[in-house]
Amino acid sequence: MNRIILCGGGPLVVPNQDCPNAAAHEPQPAGYVAWHQWAGRMAQTHKQRRCDGCGLHNIWTPFRMAKTDK
Ligand SMILES: [Zn+2]
Repeated sequence: MNRIILCGGGPLVVPNQDCPNAAAHEPQPAGYVAWHQWAGRMAQTHKQRRCDGCGLHNIWTPFRMAKTDK
């Protein structure tokens, strides 16, 4: 059962909550189109990376916190 978080744009769910690292997962829209719209916005300010616990790319780190220096 996914935890549902309500926000302005609609319900967000934390993906794959069976993962031991699920607390680090970013809540995100469940719908395909909604997810891509959301991910497009997120990608402008966040770096997406793979979760060590489940192997899914569901962790988003703000650029200012991520080590993205070239
Ligand atoms: Zn995970």
